[in-house]
Amino acid sequence: MLSLEGKTAVITGAARGQGAEAARLFARLGARVVLADVRDDLGREVAAGIGAGAHYVHLDVTDASHWAAAVDATREVFGRLDILVNNAGVFRSLPLHEESPEAFEETLRVNLVGPFLGMRAVRAPMIRAGGGAIVNVSSIAGLTGIARTGGYGASKWGLRGLTKVAALEFGEHGIRVNSVHPGIIDTPMVEGIAPPAGAGNHPAVALRRIGLPRDVAGLVAFLASDAAGFLTGAEVAVDGGSTAGQAPAVVRAG
Ligand code: NAD
Repeated sequence: MLSLEGKTAVITGAARGQGAEAARLFARLGARVVLADVRDDLGREVAAGIGAGAHYVHLDVTDASHWAAAVDATREVFGRLDILVNNAGVFRSLPLHEESPEAFEETLRVNLVGPFLGMRAVRAPMIRAGGGAIVNVSSIAGLTGIARTGGYGASKWGLRGLTKVAALEFGEHGIRVNSVHPGIIDTPMVEGIAPPAGAGNHPAVALRRIGLPRDVAGLVAFLASDAAGFLTGAEVAVDGGSTAGQAPAVVRAG
């Protein structure tokens, strides 16, 4: 059985979707959880639902001063910081020539600069805690090229690379850094874009369904736990096999 007993985790983007699900699972596995987001009402509601082992902080991941305050609050409330899940993200789907430079940069700021600031902010407290684990939520758009995801894909490829640099630099302190690469997951982010979870007809996915937040949360919890104690600098797809290769239906169609 996985355990996060005795550990304190900060999860960004925890007000809804995959972050909220990870927060709930982490708490069930024994962790104390700091939920961080810019959607304060939602975030507080999720934290209240978890109970005494959860605390909500307002954190815009693009702002270094917010990170400093969130790290301070975590240590004040729970005394230590062992795990960071860089999960907050924004998604835009546009062809390259229609994506404005401002929107491109904004996506990079949230999805790439945010985790960069986060990793910088937690390094010292993790060293004080005797080590730690960072899980960066990238995407299959960071493993392969996907049309209409210029800024988003660039941010997720960047985060995949940054994960490996951090793994190399933080390893001597017992801090592990890994990236996860979800396929399409049924959350508000893809509402109206992806077919609904129950639709049952996903020929490009080996498992023939899109993912649920709990599919990702389980992997994130494993990577954050001591069960993954020798895993660092790794990238793990959690996509039902959609990046495993050509789906049978595609080959038949050819
Ligand atoms: P979501 O939109 O439901 O949740 C994202 C959360 O991030 C929201 O609560 C939002 O308020 C928060 N957020 C956005 N900007 C922020 C900022 N500047 N500071 C702090 N919080 C901020 O989406 P989700 O599907 O739960 O996404 C979680 C992560 O998974 C994201 O990094 C996303 O890119 C990645 N991902 C999602 C999918 C998918 O299909 N849903 C696939 C691959 C990767």
